[in-house]
Amino acid sequence: RGASLTDLAEKIGVDPAALVQVLFHLGEMVTATQSVADETLQVLGAELNYDIEVVSPEDEDRELLESFDIEFGENEGGEEELAARPPVVTVMGHVDHGKTKLLDALRKSNVAGGEAGGITQSIGAYQVATEVDDQERKITFIDTPGHEAFTAMRARGAKSTDIAVLVVAADDGVMPQTIEALNHAQAADLPIVVAVNKIDKEGADPTKVRGQLTEYGLVPEEYGGDTIFVDVSAITGVGLDELLEAIVLTADAALDLRANPEMDAQGVAIEAHLDKGRGPVATVLVQRGTLHVGDSIVAGPAHGRVRALLNDSGENVTEAPPSMPVQVLGLTAVPGAGDSFIVVDDDRTARQIADKREARARMAAQAAGARRKTLDQLFEQLEKGETQELLLILKGDSSGSVEALEDALSKIDVGDEVSLRVIDRGVGAITETNVSLAAASNAVIIGYNVRAQGKATEMADRQGVDIRYYSVIYAAIDEIEAALKGMLKPIY
Ligand code: GDP
Repeated sequence: RGASLTDLAEKIGVDPAALVQVLFHLGEMVTATQSVADETLQVLGAELNYDIEVVSPEDEDRELLESFDIEFGENEGGEEELAARPPVVTVMGHVDHGKTKLLDALRKSNVAGGEAGGITQSIGAYQVATEVDDQERKITFIDTPGHEAFTAMRARGAKSTDIAVLVVAADDGVMPQTIEALNHAQAADLPIVVAVNKIDKEGADPTKVRGQLTEYGLVPEEYGGDTIFVDVSAITGVGLDELLEAIVLTADAALDLRANPEMDAQGVAIEAHLDKGRGPVATVLVQRGTLHVGDSIVAGPAHGRVRALLNDSGENVTEAPPSMPVQVLGLTAVPGAGDSFIVVDDDRTARQIADKREARARMAAQAAGARRKTLDQLFEQLEKGETQELLLILKGDSSGSVEALEDALSKIDVGDEVSLRVIDRGVGAITETNVSLAAASNAVIIGYNVRAQGKATEMADRQGVDIRYYSVIYAAIDEIEAALKGMLKPIY
């Protein structure tokens, strides 16, 4: 995963657009936010007289863990320590092709342990059992469908999934997001099983789906390829057992899924939230080792001692072996989806690792803060003639006040050199959407008798977006007019 020109621009304190231009002159056309190869960054660095060493956050974290003698991602011991583990599956496909319905149907039809009635609520993943060649085999499903969540986790360095089930509705056929999902699965090197869904529907044409996907390199077994296509209906339940069998067969044929069940557990957090009564609750997927109640654990920046483990039916369990998803109670904070978790020797080690991670996150946030392009700096640039246009997003407590503000702003006369443009306006609190637009377009947000909502302030801090609050229209107008006229003294 490469960094983007925006990342580099932030690090060396230049305008991302300038980097885009330099690269363009070197013969490469990329956008500011697109991720580029490390070599490209190095070439760019050389051009600008910077010596660039690309250290990924994952590498940084690996070094941190190594300093505690912990290796993340490796099974301890040799071959003889390894035991088979169930495959972990993500369901992907075009919207409305039946991903959610299919996950529901699979879960209801075949919950591991058998008590299908006991399901309370989803913990983000579940296991089902199926019989293949007279053997009971388990499969773990991540039950947030879609490639977005999967790819977001992957972007954080987490490998959460072994196999992708690509759901294609037989009446609709291959659609744009089908291909997108396919690309994401292939980018992650995942073997694919195709579930041709909705075969109960009139107009269903499963043969056509096979033909369409063949063009994208997914050739059905029956045509001599190596992709298993299974016709299913999430509504009637037809084909669900065959789908489970296909997943097991694909895992056996394409993957060597084994893990050491004896070591201290490691894995990935796939969902987490703050529960009013229980505190931070994280669903983790154990990837190696066995997680026990009482273990000292670090998950991203959170740590703690495992107070309780709950399985996908909401029952207390004392341990979780490889590929089993469990809810963990006892963490001090809420980790992010895609954060790794590790069990360590004692609480002290857990706390130290968590503290170091937090300190690093704080430093990164501070560095971002130092790069903040505030209104003051924009004013400075206006003064120096570096910026010709001040972009604003207006939020107010009523449509009347927003109109009045915009109207008054449009009457500011500052001549031809500089201009002011309102790129968005609205009634109500300042939202994260407002902040992301401001960040993307380098605009300043004006809040008139409204405040920022939820995480908007935090996000603005992180992304270097300036939010200015006013309760009197003329105060807003005066300050902006002064800025545009280059008369405002920067305030630090
Ligand atoms: P998602 O967006 O891919 O998660 O799709 P959903 O699971 O929400 O399904 C979209 C719609 O298709 C819903 O109205 C489902 O009831 C319907 N649907 C899903 N699977 C089937 C199926 O096998 N047969 C029929 N007839 N309808 C289905």
